[in-house]
Amino acid sequence: MKDCLFCRIVAGEIDADLVAEGDGWVAFHDINPQAPTHVLIVPREHIATTNDLGPGHEALIGQMVRAAAELAEREGIAGSGYRLVFNCNRDAGQAVFHIHLHVLGGRRMTWPPG
Ligand code: 5GP
Ligand code: ZN
Repeated sequence: MKDCLFCRIVAGEIDADLVAEGDGWVAFHDINPQAPTHVLIVPREHIATTNDLGPGHEALIGQMVRAAAELAEREGIAGSGYRLVFNCNRDAGQAVFHIHLHVLGGRRMTWPPG
């Protein structure tokens, strides 16, 4: 998608601070971190929201969640804990319409979320 920010990051047209990548996904630091660790894991394929996931995406989502757990281990937050978030549409505050898994950790978080 030509006009999609995260497609452009995946394509290398816009710089991002990459931390890891796999066949179907790329992980990079959030530009406006909300916690000491704040990484976004995005699929290489353009998928606008989690509402657009189909049965063919199950392996991809599993790989992204496993990548998040491996990243948490490497960042030293696996034991202390971390939060994985997909925001979907307006009420969740989704701002970029290419799905991304937020990996947040390194501080105590509150529940329920704001
Ligand atoms: P959302 O609210 O859609 O779940 O989250 C979008 C996230 O993308 C936000 O946390 C925001 O800081 C991050 N973001 C927006 N633009 C850029 C960018 O150009 N580069 C990076 N690395 N992160 C971005
Ligand atoms: Zn996209």
